[in-house]
Amino acid sequence: MSDVGPNLRAVQQRVALACQRANRPPESVRLLAVSKLHSADSIREAYAVGHRDFGENYAQELRDKATQLRELADIRWHAIGPLQLNKAKYVAKSAYAFHALDRIELAEELSRRRLGPPLPCYLELNLGGESTKSGIEPSQLTAVLDQISPLPKVKVVGLMCLPPLAPDAEASRQFFRTLRELALQNGLNELSMGSTHDFEVAIEEGSTVVRVGSGIFGERPGA
Ligand SMILES: *Cc1c(COP(=O)(O)O)cnc(C)c1O
Repeated sequence: MSDVGPNLRAVQQRVALACQRANRPPESVRLLAVSKLHSADSIREAYAVGHRDFGENYAQELRDKATQLRELADIRWHAIGPLQLNKAKYVAKSAYAFHALDRIELAEELSRRRLGPPLPCYLELNLGGESTKSGIEPSQLTAVLDQISPLPKVKVVGLMCLPPLAPDAEASRQFFRTLRELALQNGLNELSMGSTHDFEVAIEEGSTVVRVGSGIFGERPGA
């Protein structure tokens, strides 16, 4: 047996404590269990203790797991990684939400491919000015929102960021704060920010979705 159940409970408790410190109701933060590269059985373990929100980075892995686990019909799959145009169809089909929308063409393709209700999306911002990372520049945000808003099957609900890697969680705070300000300025309510090493700081800064992988499932195989 693995520690997925106990790890999940421990993370949930830390989420609740961070909410308490920040004077926020615990249900104001959704916890995504980031299961990328982990087995379907690990997901079943989390499901068995009541967890329903899972984050996957790779579109084909998401597609395959959604198929493999289709009897767990109320799982909510969140696509959280960079997405190529030719794989947008998998996300359009299987995802409950997409957290890494970073360009118009991708929004257009998702909208074309989506059946049923519009896909809730988070625009990913590149706040650290890192050329190796995806995400739109803050100066482009309003223009991108204007271009996406007419698309019928994509609905931008919030913003997402992945701060530059740093040993200290406090280093992420300024990025989380900037993301929150940008969301406020643009009338967006959701903030997908915070992972294993900095989710408590993210909650203090207003995160509504934290994406926790290794803190729940352990080190990723091959990572
Ligand atoms: C892998 C990943 C996470 C989870 O990272 P951990 O450090 O394992 O918690 C969160 N967000 C994104 C975008 C990721 O790719």
